[in-house]
Amino acid sequence: MSFRTINPATGKLVEEFSLQSDEQVFAALTKADRRYHEDWKHRSVAERARIVGRAAQILREKRDEYAKYPIVEMGKVTRYSYLEVDLVADILDYYAKHGEKLLGPQSPPGEPGATVVAEPIGVLLAIEPWNFPYYQLARVAAPQLVAGNVVMMKHAENVPQCALAFARLFEEAGAPEGVYTNIFCSIEQVAKLIDDFRVRGVALTGSERAGASVGERAGRNLKKAILELGGSDPAVILEGAPLELAVEQCVMGRTFNSGQGCVNIKRVIVVGKERGQKMLAALKERFQALKIGDPTDETTDLGPLASERALKGLLEQIDGAKAAGARIVYGGKRVDRPGFYLEPTIITDIAEDNPLYQQEAFGPVLSFYVVNSEEEAIELANATKYGLGAFVFDADVEHAKKVASRIESGMVYINSCFVDSPGLPFGGIKNSGFGRELSELGIGEFLNRKLVRVA
Ligand code: NAP
Repeated sequence: MSFRTINPATGKLVEEFSLQSDEQVFAALTKADRRYHEDWKHRSVAERARIVGRAAQILREKRDEYAKYPIVEMGKVTRYSYLEVDLVADILDYYAKHGEKLLGPQSPPGEPGATVVAEPIGVLLAIEPWNFPYYQLARVAAPQLVAGNVVMMKHAENVPQCALAFARLFEEAGAPEGVYTNIFCSIEQVAKLIDDFRVRGVALTGSERAGASVGERAGRNLKKAILELGGSDPAVILEGAPLELAVEQCVMGRTFNSGQGCVNIKRVIVVGKERGQKMLAALKERFQALKIGDPTDETTDLGPLASERALKGLLEQIDGAKAAGARIVYGGKRVDRPGFYLEPTIITDIAEDNPLYQQEAFGPVLSFYVVNSEEEAIELANATKYGLGAFVFDADVEHAKKVASRIESGMVYINSCFVDSPGLPFGGIKNSGFGRELSELGIGEFLNRKLVRVA
């Protein structure tokens, strides 16, 4: 195993980075642990925030350079790469600016003399995926560094240049060695790190398989883990929803980032047969009009998938759905060109016993359902093991909120596809994991909320 940049638009190997030895990985842990105990946790929030804020400034200054790496490493379309860089700068800024408030002492109501203060806990190990190769890292690093924890980051094996570039940000911003450490380590080394007492918390974003493995290891070692896992997010199109808006948002919500988002519209559920037919026809038309192409081309809508493995996995899922009786209404095949391209795909007639009914499709593959009533739509929306994001479309926002309250998920967006924001909590329920990132909830996941009571 090694960390490799393979350009998904060409399939060619660009650069390879060696795995670190056990000695190197554990020497990095020793440095991180010392830095935490001897320096970082003793600094004021304002001092730590200054460094994180400076990292945001550097990122903005080097926007063009930073936007380049996700394009070449995971095929991100240029304009979306810039969007990610800008969002990450905003996240770093947000925790630099609001850290002091988010970490302030709390006074439990009706308990005079009691204060609950926020203290860091030590070295955190973060294991992250490639789909938003800076944003995923920032969700942990920005709040946790301001909180006084130090972070060891194991990024996905296909985005090593993004991993190194993100680490450089903190180095250039003046963070001393050990505050933020990138490690090129194996899954086995991750397990050994979790076993080490000096690692005090673990954050993983990724698949259920990885989540179960990391969660089990952390539990065995009596340390806290937060898990941000997959989803099969439904978009419920209610009877009062303006169809044009719903179509536009569903196309964006399914094809943005080549469909490789945890919170993406993956299942469209339309109430009413006639509206269902109209919506399906419009979606087909819009999918047909998408420009598939080179991610460096400003006019491209849909770039490649991030890897050959991702492409093969999706083709297998499509074949499996077809074999179990589903109908491919649009797309479904590999695009005949170099690189890892999949046609945007719409699938209908997915019966309850079809494997796709329960699976997450991590690419531009839309499952389309028509139901007779709102009740049926809610039931179908909740019928998977996942509970990450969900979407409700209706002209009556108050009614949409009522429907939202009945959906089993960590986040619901009304009348839009997913737009993240630095100060909002992110996370899921059921097999989509547990814990939150970002916001007061996220920063609080790895704090010792210590009670100090005066008699
Ligand atoms: P993945 O295989 O689980 O990889 C994610 C990270 O976990 C990578 O760094 C990977 O390392 C590591 N990893 C894999 N198996 C592991 C194990 N047994 N122990 C420790 N680490 C392990 O995920 P993926 O398939 O690349 O990413 C897509 C999945 O992530 C989807 O399910 C998606 O929905 C989910 N996701 C969730 C969120 C969220 O916030 N909820 C956000 C984005 C993505 P290697 O690269 O070295 O294998």
